[in-house]
Amino acid sequence: MNDIAERYAQVQERIRAAAERAGRDPAAITLVAVTKTWPAETVIEAYRAGLRHFGENRAYELEEKRAAVTAELGPDSGIIWHQIGTLQSRKTKTAAATAGVFHALDRFKIARRLSRHLTEELDPPRILPTFLEVNVSGEESKSGYAAHKWEESETERQKIRKVVQKVLELPGLELKGLMTMAPWGAPEEVARPIFRRTRFLAAWLTEAIPDANLMQLSMGMTDDFEIAIEEGATHIRVGRAIFGERDYH
Ligand SMILES: *Cc1c(COP(=O)(O)O)cnc(C)c1O
Repeated sequence: MNDIAERYAQVQERIRAAAERAGRDPAAITLVAVTKTWPAETVIEAYRAGLRHFGENRAYELEEKRAAVTAELGPDSGIIWHQIGTLQSRKTKTAAATAGVFHALDRFKIARRLSRHLTEELDPPRILPTFLEVNVSGEESKSGYAAHKWEESETERQKIRKVVQKVLELPGLELKGLMTMAPWGAPEEVARPIFRRTRFLAAWLTEAIPDANLMQLSMGMTDDFEIAIEEGATHIRVGRAIFGERDYH
């Protein structure tokens, strides 16, 4: 087995064990292989090892890699590309045309623009499954809707509730749940409550808003995906555990 296939098998085993500890079905967890900084050849190697979900945090890198991979594997490869990083306004058009799932909605303006591209400009129009990014850790460097004090702060809670309601009314976007990140290198006692509180927030929103079901949770990376799975993650975004260390970011 090559390195990627071997590491992928180890990650799958770790997913299975974490799901088992939590009494969950491992098949309900989508592994998004984060290929940022790696070339298209790496994606193709991972594809041959059996991976189908790939994540990029920059829209242009997703667009370029997707084109290169499609040229090699054809349009029916079954690959789903996940835009996992926040989008700038001028990248919404690219993302609407190329991403299969969007994990990092952090401004309503971005939602409105995506909705317009998806429903009015793309032919045929398309539905984009989307996660609202929430900042539960309170770290200033993190993007996402402020949710550090959502349990105590009526203001914070209602702000998120309102934006969810508004996004649900937009055609083209399908709001699936919440995405969050624990601080870099956080110990388990810090990461776990962040993931748990994100799940509780998703449950509160699902309860509070008619027709909302936000129970899909994009959380967990190389250093903390097992904790995230124990706390209810349905999508984990894993780079280094599959591909090794990146040269930069
Ligand atoms: C880079 C990145 C990941 C993957 O990080 P690893 O530590 O390599 O697993 C996950 N999510 C986002 C948003 C990222 O930018």
